[in-house]
Amino acid sequence: MPEANKSQATEAWRGSPGLLEELLEGVSESVIVRDVSGKVLLWNKASEALYGYSREAMVGRDLHEHLGSHHPTMRASLERHLLEQGHWEGELKRTTASGEIRRIEVRWKVQPAPDGKPVSIVEYGRDITRLSDIELESRLQAHRYRNLFQAMAASFWELDFSVVRGMLAELAQQGVEDFRGYFESHPEFIDAAIDVTRVVDVNDKTVSLFGAKSREELVGGTVAAFWPRESRVVYAESLLAAVRRLPGLSRETRLSTLDGKLFEALFTVCWPPGHHGRGPVLVGVIDFSARVAAEREVRALQSEFAHASRLSVLGELTASIAHEVNQPLAAIATNGAAGLRWLSRPVPDLDEVRAIHANMVSDAKRAADIIARIRSMASNRGSEARRLSPNQVVEEAVQFLRHELSAHDVDLRFELGEGLPDIEADRVQLQQIIVNLALNAMQEMTRAGCPGPTIHLRTFAREGELRFELEDSGPGIPVEHHERLFQSFFTTKANGLGMGLAICRNIVEAHGGRIWAENAASGGARFCFALPLETPAASP
Ligand code: ADP
Repeated sequence: MPEANKSQATEAWRGSPGLLEELLEGVSESVIVRDVSGKVLLWNKASEALYGYSREAMVGRDLHEHLGSHHPTMRASLERHLLEQGHWEGELKRTTASGEIRRIEVRWKVQPAPDGKPVSIVEYGRDITRLSDIELESRLQAHRYRNLFQAMAASFWELDFSVVRGMLAELAQQGVEDFRGYFESHPEFIDAAIDVTRVVDVNDKTVSLFGAKSREELVGGTVAAFWPRESRVVYAESLLAAVRRLPGLSRETRLSTLDGKLFEALFTVCWPPGHHGRGPVLVGVIDFSARVAAEREVRALQSEFAHASRLSVLGELTASIAHEVNQPLAAIATNGAAGLRWLSRPVPDLDEVRAIHANMVSDAKRAADIIARIRSMASNRGSEARRLSPNQVVEEAVQFLRHELSAHDVDLRFELGEGLPDIEADRVQLQQIIVNLALNAMQEMTRAGCPGPTIHLRTFAREGELRFELEDSGPGIPVEHHERLFQSFFTTKANGLGMGLAICRNIVEAHGGRIWAENAASGGARFCFALPLETPAASP
């Protein structure tokens, strides 16, 4: 029969008078239709048999009041949940016409309203009073699971993994042992596995999160549309977890909605116990995008602060910087004048002129190096982790301070460890910490008028960490300040901002390290920071 004729026939059949009533009377399950307030609209024969009330007695009456279904508060919250989710299933105790209490397993479904009409609720009910405790418990578990599955704010999927299990078993039969290596060299295997991972069920959150129109659009299909190529390595990891018989796996990754929008997701797969046999695999997806965006903003803000603080430190060092740059320039001017004199002699001394020129070139280079150092300190660029020699970082940082230290008569003593391993870190950021700590020390010693101000700068390796220590001979840190030193905006200076140490802490922590302060036996303050010798890439 052609399609058009078929649908005409179906329509005609559907419209036949009394058919619905006939069908409802024939089923053994209680079917009740009610409105949102609980008023009964339809009551079939099986309902009469189950509850002992006739249709005439019930239609138009309040269902819950008549059957004493449940407590009013519970009813209100159940009804709210029902209208939000569109369905609910569970177990209720109801009282029959003869006063007997029965346990009824019900399924409620909200029937969408045709134009302008109010919604109605269809209820299917079954008497489970006489089921054994074990049966009841397992039904209860099933309901709990279904309700949880539906009600959670996270996206949940039940996946049929059986074909993939077969594919993995086949690989094992072919003698593949290094599955990770195999997946890396055969990405087409992962693509094929994704193509045959079927969706058994999804909850409402999944429908909205992945941009589907309905649950039906996803159920029965494969998961291929949701795994962008860049994230398939995480799918491969979940296969490895299955091969290794791990109970589950959780990874941050990016998944795709149906219309191709990528979002940051926490993907969790959970294998049923004894999953190496059958059973659906449960997958949970939490949308992380808002958190990742917030973290990105915090990092950008920290980086802006760190930059502002570097500029303010450079501002404090203007006199030193001018002096530093001036020195080689003055030397160039002096050498240039001397060179001219040698050339103006009746017999120019070219050897002398050559030597003077060499000096001028190296002085010009020195000036250029100083400018380059200042420019990198002043620039606002992202973090760059490089392999660095710790002592070289310290020595370069001190270049910024040389003039300032001598202007304040500060004696700077180095105790730099020998043969220290390189670290992976951002050069400018580490120098920023050292300059900050040294400036603070100098300011405290000057403020307190300490005689013979001294700074000890130490580097050494200890217990898998590289330590930097800066100890001064100032007044030390009052006990009550210890807790707050590294907090933003803590300052005891009239013109202080209180951001220096907070920024130092951000930088150190972004390098996977820690920073702290203590008072030395001599009474001065000692600021220490430690970086792991295997330093992760920095980020502020
Ligand atoms: P600011 O320099 O703007 O005050 P910091 O965060 O760099 O901000 O320092 C916060 C506070 O920590 C200082 O105001 C001071 O009270 C204390 N502090 C820092 N370094 C030392 C030090 N070497 N000795 C004693 N106190 C210090």
